[in-house]
Parts: sequence; C-alpha cells; structure tokens
Amino acid sequence: MMKLTRIAAVAALALALSACGSSQKTVDQAPSAGSSAGALVGVTMPTKSSERWIHDGDNIKASLEKLGYAVDLQYAENDIPTQVNQIENQITKGAKLLVVASIDGTALTTQLQEAADKHIPVIAYDRLIRNSPNVDYYATFDNFKVGVEQATSLLVGLGLKRPDGGDGTATGPFNIELFAGSPDDNNATFFFNGALSVLKPYLDRGTLRVKSGQTDFNTVAILRWDPATAQRRMEDLLTTTYRGGDKVNGVLSPYDGLSIGILSALKSNGYGTAGQPYPTVTGQDAEVASVKSIIAGEQFATVYKDTRQLADITVKMADAALKGGKPEVNNTTDYNNGVKVVPSYLLQPVVVYKDNYQKELIDSGYYTAAQLR
Ligand code: BGC
Repeated sequence: MMKLTRIAAVAALALALSACGSSQKTVDQAPSAGSSAGALVGVTMPTKSSERWIHDGDNIKASLEKLGYAVDLQYAENDIPTQVNQIENQITKGAKLLVVASIDGTALTTQLQEAADKHIPVIAYDRLIRNSPNVDYYATFDNFKVGVEQATSLLVGLGLKRPDGGDGTATGPFNIELFAGSPDDNNATFFFNGALSVLKPYLDRGTLRVKSGQTDFNTVAILRWDPATAQRRMEDLLTTTYRGGDKVNGVLSPYDGLSIGILSALKSNGYGTAGQPYPTVTGQDAEVASVKSIIAGEQFATVYKDTRQLADITVKMADAALKGGKPEVNNTTDYNNGVKVVPSYLLQPVVVYKDNYQKELIDSGYYTAAQLR
C-alpha cells in the first residue's frame, strides 16, 4: 500500500513537472508562434549569370522554409530597375523582412524608406546597401581580407611568397596588371584596397610594376562584373602595353567570371603554351569552371567563400529579427554605408589553390568530385 502511494506520488510529481515544462515552452515560443509564423520573407539576388548567387538564393530559401517561413526569391539579371520593382512588389505582397543582395548599392533608398515606414527589417546580403539609414543588418565575408588573400595568392604564384606566408625565392621584377569589380558594388573597393595593402610595398620597391600604369580604381573597375568587358580590357592591354614583346607575369582579378575573360584574352594572344605559360591569375568565388581551370593549371587561385555559411548566418539574423529579438553580429565598426555604421556579421574567406581544392571544396561537401571533373 505504502509502495503504491509512493509510486502514485512520484508519477503525479513527474506529471506536474512535465506539464510545467511544456507550459514553460509554450510561453518561450509564444512570440514566434504569434506574429512571425509563416511570415513572408522577400529575398532579392543580383543575377543568375554567376553560379554563386544561385547557391546563395537556394540555400537561403531552403533554410527559411525549414523554419516555416514563406519565401519570395527573385533574380534581376543585373538590371537595377528590375530589382527595384521586385523589392517594391515584395513590400506590396506583405513581406515581413527583406534580404537584399543589391546590384547597385546606392539605388534602393526609396524602397528601403517604404520598408522602414512599414517596420520591415532589411538585411543587406553580401553587398552593403549605401546611403540609407534603413539597413538594419549586414551579413558578409571580411571583404578587405578577400582582397588581401587575392593579392597574397598573386605573390605566391609569382614566387614572391610561399602559401604558408613566408618569403619566396623569386626576386622579380614582374609585370602585373590590376582589375577591380563593379564601381557601384561597395565590396569592389574593399577588395581592391585589401589587395593594394599587400601589393603596395612590392610596387614601391619596383619588385612589381603595373606596366600599363593603370592603377586607379575607376580606371581598372569592370562595370557589373562583366566578363566580356574584362576580356576586352585585357585584349587592349596586351595589344598596346605589351605590343613590344614584354610579357605580363601576373593579373589581379577580383572574380572568377572576370578571370575566365582575362584568360581567354591571354590565350588568343599566345599565352597558355609550354613556351609561354599563363601569368598568375587570381579570382574569387570558387566557381566550378574556375576550379576546373585551377586543376588544369590555368587560373592560379581563387578565394573561396562558403555561401552555405553566409546563408546560414543570414537566416539566423532573419529569424531573430522576425521574432523581435537581436541578431548576432561580430563587427560594429567597419561598414559605414554613408549614413550609419551597419551592424555586421563577417565570415572568413579561404584561398584555394591546386594543392588544397580537394580538402576545401570536396571534403567539405561544397562540391562533389564529379562536379569538378
Ligand atoms: C561578391 C563576390 C562576387 C562579385 C561578383 C561581389 O559583391 O562579394 O563574391 O564575385 O560580387 O558577383
């Protein structure tokens, strides 16, 4: 009898505790279950012409949907008015939060004001949106570091540095040419300044020289990151600056798409043979075609940014903001958009060479071995 009573008491206690636990849970989850459950999130990406943005869009959409949100994902093929319309439509459709990878970082002020008027938080994705007080958070990679890594890989390819950071045995002097990204993309300046911070001492010493003399950002920038424009500029450099027989030894390219254009210009001007190998050409994004080119010994390196990680932190930010919480950031100093410093989360880029693509890209599950064959 005694025993039975004790069992009953323990059971009652357990029941009470579990009821207490579950009611506690209900209270904790209440805010999400209320206003944000199933909310529509508007996601705008610049273009499908570069595969990285396709991965970004797919990853964000899938993760948000897993959390129960509805997602409107749009691409604008690098056309600014199209992106403006897409954002306006998302606001009209009742989006509760916007994730924007802008084409022109200065062109969205009006739309962001509309969003702010409706209390819709805005997360700038990968590219900072400028000249607006209505950018709440920024998720990106350390863009200055991307430039540092690009220039470092250029030095490694030239033999001036070793991949481990030590000095190489080459002495130069080497002829190099510089390319930068789209002038309306805030990242492009960060990449370029990061790269120049590494190259400057070598340029000052004369170990490296930009034979064309074109070192100014606006002169070397490629509007909308267009591969054909980069190819034309490289053709021009080869047929003017290098007409006399001098060779170009290295090209600072800030994006894999541009690197492909640059390599084709080099190829049609006699580079890429045993007697006249390609110069060291850098890149960014670890796009499939460029990784294959690295494996084939054409492009020298790329800067890999794991877009899975970027999507992941962005979705965490979005989820926190939608639930009325405070998203996690790790940088509150570096990204001034012209109106305010935007609280940011910066991820770390990794240089990929022929030697480490297996570990970084295949072992990490970013690509399958078959995709790179
Ligand atoms: C991104 C790069 C990309 C470039 C061209 C930049 O804003 O940060 O990853 O290579 O745009 O799409």
